[in-house]
Amino acid sequence: MFATLSDRLNATLKNLRGKGRLSEADIDATAREIRIALLEADVALPVVKDFVAAVKERARGEEVSQALNPAQQVVKIVNDELVTILGGETRRLRFAKTGPTVIMLAGLQGAGKTTLAAKLALWLREQGKTPLLVACDLQRPNAVQQLQVNGAKVGVPVFAPEPGNGVGDPVSVARASIEEAKRKLHDVVIVDTAGRLGVDAEMMKQAAGIRDAVQPDEVLFVVDAMIGQDALVTAQAFLDGVGYDGVVLTKLDGDARGGAALSIRQVTGRPVMFASSGEKMTDFDVFHPDRMASRILD
Ligand code: GDP
Repeated sequence: MFATLSDRLNATLKNLRGKGRLSEADIDATAREIRIALLEADVALPVVKDFVAAVKERARGEEVSQALNPAQQVVKIVNDELVTILGGETRRLRFAKTGPTVIMLAGLQGAGKTTLAAKLALWLREQGKTPLLVACDLQRPNAVQQLQVNGAKVGVPVFAPEPGNGVGDPVSVARASIEEAKRKLHDVVIVDTAGRLGVDAEMMKQAAGIRDAVQPDEVLFVVDAMIGQDALVTAQAFLDGVGYDGVVLTKLDGDARGGAALSIRQVTGRPVMFASSGEKMTDFDVFHPDRMASRILD
């Protein structure tokens, strides 16, 4: 197990108590510890550099020179900066003023989209919404069936291509689902889309086609926190290829420190909105920047 960043900073600065400004050597030692800890947490290098520069700047300032315990003050600065970069407040879903709110999910195969679709549906249902799940992942064998199984678990209907009707094309299914939602008075439509194992032009084209057909109120990019540094490359590719409003981090029950959240937020400017942390339908919550900061720091 790695020593936590708080421990490292306390050890680095332990002999300093109310001695006024930190020396440049102390600040450099502090910066080094922060850099290592963030890289170990899978934060992308350019993001680490900016972050460390911001913390160094503040570490030279009054709040540290006047602190009784400079180490604690530096830990607080790091925590504050993490929370700020992670978005400060939780960003909430925006609902459409009229007609059904359309939420489209995009991401690589295996990111956890189909699982997340059902979790999100359950979460919305518990808030009194009447969601409809839409199976537009017609690529992965069993994805439709998996969504149907998960939909049944959470008591939410699934709109899917008719069996025996050929595979159908996802754009037509997506378009038809909006009509179905209006007919049956669903107030939220959650569209699951196909991913592939790697970033792929065909997949982006299909996702963009679905997006144009359903005009989503929210596009959510779903990404596995366990893929570490690769998360940023994928996030950028989906931003360019499809565009999205927010991010969902999945598999946070694994041992990923969550640096992907920081990198994605900083580079794409899109907030992480939800966190998925297990295979149970209730392993899901809105994203809390302060909790993620603690996860990275502690
Ligand atoms: P999709 O290809 O993006 O639709 O991904 P799936 O929803 O099928 O998820 C891929 C695998 O990851 C499945 O085995 C899921 O059960 C699993 N999975 C999804 N979300 C989580 C999570 O938050 N934690 C864990 N441990 N597993 C997850």
